Amino acid sequence: MSLASVIGQETATTALRAFITQDTVPQSLLFVGAEGVGKTTAAVEFAKALVCKNRLPSGDACESCANCHRINAGEHPDVKRVAPDGENTRIWQLWSRPGHPPGVLESLPYAPVAAPKRIIIFERAETFNDESANSLLKALEEPPPYVQFVLCAPTPSAVLPTILSRCQMIRFRQASVDAITQGLIERKNVEPAEARVLAAYSEGAPGKAFRLSDAPEIRTQREALLDVAERIAFCPPVAAFRLAEDFRNAAKPGKPKKGEAEEEGGDKTARGDIGRAVDVLCAWYADLLTASVRGVDAPLVHAERRAAVVNAAKRYASPTQIGDALETLFLFRRHLARNANAQLATEVMMAKIVPKG
Ligand SMILES: [Zn+2]
Repeated sequence: MSLASVIGQETATTALRAFITQDTVPQSLLFVGAEGVGKTTAAVEFAKALVCKNRLPSGDACESCANCHRINAGEHPDVKRVAPDGENTRIWQLWSRPGHPPGVLESLPYAPVAAPKRIIIFERAETFNDESANSLLKALEEPPPYVQFVLCAPTPSAVLPTILSRCQMIRFRQASVDAITQGLIERKNVEPAEARVLAAYSEGAPGKAFRLSDAPEIRTQREALLDVAERIAFCPPVAAFRLAEDFRNAAKPGKPKKGEAEEEGGDKTARGDIGRAVDVLCAWYADLLTASVRGVDAPLVHAERRAAVVNAAKRYASPTQIGDALETLFLFRRHLARNANAQLATEVMMAKIVPKG
């Protein structure tokens, strides 16, 4: 890996390499972008390029010096990654507290031991609570010259304005389907057709696509969900509730975990499963829309089900109706967490997206 090979983030990584080659690296950086888009990957590659002993003229790391090896192994003493403990990044992760491992900011007064910089990466800066955020703020005010901070967050507004004002922001965009497809083929040995489907499902986040490719059971489940999706366009409105039940069953990942249904967390788990399953319906209806607007030869995500896509699209009176169904699915997905009753919510959703008479 290198900064240049972070998938679909040429603008961000070009800016980072320019900082390095021109020796103008801001001491506190904030990487902003959606989950899975490559912020943490880029932060680690940036750290490597910063402390590499034989850095290339491009600003990329050599991948063969001692510092590169230790960072790749996750064992460099001067490069620390901090992920939240549960919901929050907590004060004991910054400053040592009894009963916890040493806080990452305790080492700030001491020069780095193996590299020219001490690099601290906060993987989810949006999870700081008031106490830890205020403590970080003090550290950001006057860090020693050898300290480099990299904070990652989904949006600028997810971090305190006072923290934001002390950081140089680097934006990470959604990666293109082509870039993610290529990444899956080259780095994960995924078949090209499957890679394209996973890339389309990942919403511009290579991290999400890579996680999907690591879970082969996802593919089986997706096929089951697509079988349900194919039936929606042929379902009379009165039978929508039955199809909603088939959809919920297909959304369950394998056998339910022990006691899951009875416990309080059961519905939350079911909602997560349904959320992922709705991604499949969204991709399916996006294909229907593409086919209805661009015709039978249109490029489709589910190219292996082309005939079914085309036939389903014909069941809707117009592309607008398919667009309405897609919008219903997007809204359903967004509001899923707030829906008190997942069963009722899926029945209402299904009734709205079946073709109208
Ligand atoms: Zn190196």
